[in-house]
Amino acid sequence: LEEQFAKAQRMQAIGNLAGGIAHDFNNVLTIITASVDFLLLNQRAGDPSFQDLLLIKQSANRAASLVRQLLAYSRRQTMRPKMLNLTDVVADMHLLLKRISGDLVKLERHHARDLWPVMADIGQFEQVLTNLVQNARDAMPDGGTITISTRNVGEPEAKSFGYVEMQEGEFVLVEVSDNGTGMPPEVAERIFEPFFTTKEIGKGTGLGLSMVYGIIKQSGGFIYVDSTPGKGTSFRIFLPRHVPAEALATKTEAGPSGIAS
Ligand code: ADP
Repeated sequence: LEEQFAKAQRMQAIGNLAGGIAHDFNNVLTIITASVDFLLLNQRAGDPSFQDLLLIKQSANRAASLVRQLLAYSRRQTMRPKMLNLTDVVADMHLLLKRISGDLVKLERHHARDLWPVMADIGQFEQVLTNLVQNARDAMPDGGTITISTRNVGEPEAKSFGYVEMQEGEFVLVEVSDNGTGMPPEVAERIFEPFFTTKEIGKGTGLGLSMVYGIIKQSGGFIYVDSTPGKGTSFRIFLPRHVPAEALATKTEAGPSGIAS
């Protein structure tokens, strides 16, 4: 338990540091982008510096995208939570996720009926799924299956997961599993840290999962990884069930068993 607590503190410290750097860095980038745009105004495609300026602009844009991911990790990004049914969100993303998975990987979905709603920012949740599916695909270079499932996890079952951070309560579980390479424990322990990557330079930034972690935390949820080398990996996301205010009001009026119809 102590170890888990120390780890949570370490993650928070990294998050604060990363957020602070990202914030200052963003100001620098704004100046670079504005200056390069200004210089490009006086340039034509054939001019000697045109390609170099374009390269600076593209690199600044890429840096800006990294900064956005870092800000998401440190929870400094504004979010607009709405009531969402995650089964619908996953279903709507099916084509996109299939494209990300590529031709060698099969994408399967299992959805429980009548999923509880959650409060989340749909754009952020889409980033989470996109990242998990990208990583799963990268872990299966020779093909395999990615399974995305959604279901409700009620009071007694939630505790049975036995995760330290997990509180009692009702959650919606989104699970993304693959049968790829898996990871040894010393890798699995560090994957949510910003800039931690095992991929070659240019292929991975190590920011994907740190962003995922930040978004899930910001939404009041939890994320866990379960991985076995040679067998595969499973990411479990728990988001708290959202009970709309009207439903609560009806429930109190009609007594504990009253359900709005
Ligand atoms: P990146 O993908 O840029 O490396 P991430 O933060 O998304 O950054 O992932 C960090 C690391 O976690 C990866 O480099 C990889 O080693 C490991 N990882 C993430 N997802 C999986 C997975 N599904 N299977 C195996 N390893 C994974």
